[in-house]
Formats: sequence, C-alpha cells, structure tokens
Amino acid sequence: MVDFDKKKIREQITNEQIYDLLEEFGAEPQYVSDAIISRTICHNNFGEGSRKLYYYFNTGLFHCYTGCEEPSFDIFELIIKIFKTQQDKELDLNDAIRYVAYKCGIDGVLVTDDFGSSIQEDWKIFNNYDRIASLTNKDYHIQLKEYDDIILDRLNYNVVITPWLKEHIIQEVLDYNRIGFYPGGDQITIPHWDKDNRLVGVRGRSVCVEDCERYGKYRPLYINQQFYTHPLGMNLYNLNHSKNNIATLKTAIVYESEKSCMLHQSYFGFDHDISVACCGSSISAYQMQMLLDLGVTSVVVAFDKQFQETKTAESKLWEKKLMKIYEKFGNDVTLSFIWDKDGVLGYKDSPIDCGKEKFMYLYNNRITL
Ligand SMILES: [Zn+2]
Repeated sequence: MVDFDKKKIREQITNEQIYDLLEEFGAEPQYVSDAIISRTICHNNFGEGSRKLYYYFNTGLFHCYTGCEEPSFDIFELIIKIFKTQQDKELDLNDAIRYVAYKCGIDGVLVTDDFGSSIQEDWKIFNNYDRIASLTNKDYHIQLKEYDDIILDRLNYNVVITPWLKEHIIQEVLDYNRIGFYPGGDQITIPHWDKDNRLVGVRGRSVCVEDCERYGKYRPLYINQQFYTHPLGMNLYNLNHSKNNIATLKTAIVYESEKSCMLHQSYFGFDHDISVACCGSSISAYQMQMLLDLGVTSVVVAFDKQFQETKTAESKLWEKKLMKIYEKFGNDVTLSFIWDKDGVLGYKDSPIDCGKEKFMYLYNNRITL
C-alpha cells in the first residue's frame, strides 16, 4: 500500500524539482540527455562524493555507482540517506515523503479522490496541516554542522593576498572576512559562517593553475583528513554580516561569489552592505526563504555575465536561466536583474568587478520584472 502511494506522489515530482532538491543539498546536479548526474550525496558528505549518482528520467529512480549497498532508490530514500549522513537525523518514510511533498508544493493534492477511500484513510495524516507545518518548520531550519573555528587561527593571515588587493578588495575587508592562506593546498581560504555566525565551512580558492583545471577554482578546504564543507544551497555567504542592513532596507543583492561581497564591502562600506553570495549560478528555495524570513521584498540578482554578446544563442540561454529564477520566486518577491546590455563588463565578470561607477550604472539600469 505504501509503495503504491509513494509511486503516486513520485509521479507528480518533476525532473526540475529533483534537480532543485539536489542543488539545495549541494550535489551540484547537471542535466544530461536522459538523466541528472550529481555528486554521491547518498553516502558522502557535502562536496566529498564523486559524480556517480544518476537520476534516470525513464525510471524516476536514482542509481549510485559507488558506495551504496543497495544502489537503486527513489527520491524519498535519498532524502532519508541525506538526513542520516549530513544531519545525523533519522527520518522514516512518512517523514521523507512529507518533506519532499512539502518542498515540491504537492501537499495540498495528496488527499484526493484519486487515492480511493481506503488509501485516503492512510493519507489522513497528510490532511493534518498543523503536523505538516510543524514538521516542515522544524526541518526547514536545518542547522548545518559547525566546525571548530580554531582552524581559522591556524591558517596563515600574514600572507598578503596580492591578487585580490589588485582587484580592489581592501585589506580591512580581507581581515573582516578572515581571509587566510593554506600553504599545504596553495589555496586562499574563505571561511563561511551561517547567519548566526557559526562556522559551517571553509572554501579554498586555488592559486595553482593545474589544480584549478583539475578541481575547478573553488573547492572545500581539506586539512588533516577533514573536509570543511557544507551544502552551498543551504547557506548564504555574508548573511551574518549583512542581515541587519538587509532587514532594514528589505532589499538584498545576490552575487554568485564571495569575492563580489568583499568588493561590495570595499566600495560601499560595512554600513551599506546588503550583499550575499549564493555561491553558484542559481538561487535555491532555501536561500530565498532565508531572505524572506528577514522581511525582504526586493531581491537584486547580480550574477556573473555569462555571455559575450547580447542577442546571441549564449545570451538567450542565460536569459532563460534568469527567467527560471523569476518563475520560481516572482510571486514571493520583486526581482530585478543586472543585465549588461551595453557591454560594460567583460566575459564572466561579476557586475561589481569593473569598479564602483560601472556597478552603479548597471545597478541603476537593471531590469525589474
Ligand atoms: Zn551512494
């Protein structure tokens, strides 16, 4: 009986919703023709797994090609696994189904005639909105694992971060954000705090070209067999610093990278800082909720320029991606987008990379939908 019900709900979950859930849990999902490929968050902690977890569109099932004893499972079992591995929380199947149903906005349709009367009996629990609300509220405020911040004292602060100073991030801002250097990994280190100032991760920006090519520019810091990692979609970088200003102005600027927040602080000062970084090129529902919780009514999306020229296939693709953000959150908040139609920025530049004046120009000419 449970299997049958589970299947019914599973069928209502779209591939995009699966993608969004994976992204929120830091699995770095990617579409391929018949599947979504992501990191093995089924048995690894955030940022640690290889890209061997597949979600197949035809079966609606996940397959883990490393590590998991029973390699084939559905979204609910994945949620149970994730909570066990990453939160040390035991969810039962009902909890997992409720969680997914809530996240995908299908809790309202669970109790319908489609389920038949006897099955409907089983689903009465879903009709209890108080219970759903209490469970989801509890689960919504996921507290990320906290790392001992003694690690920050061990990272070298006497190193001059010349490349970033050259890009006009001022020393005071580097100190404020406790930017350090880890010689063992040739990495500039960027501590991530949650909104309550708990250390939830440290990311390393590799300065070695070879590493950049192999692992990407950014990856979690790894010292003494410890990854300082967290699901990026479940936190907003710099919110611990900017939350009061954001709450006062009811406005936030969302950048992609930590460096953009630091440039923002360098140009406008800490008193005028309303910046956060989502640390990717999409905003997760969880991140948006964190802003809504502060009473935000207006969100400025200030993502890197991912196209060379406007009115090209490349720019259209980027436009589509931004439209997806609008479709997702446009009902909750006024969204505006920085869109470099005049070619002020270079390719892949953040809107704040080319100085304060150019940023102000782009900001004042942003597109409000
Ligand atoms: Zn696995």
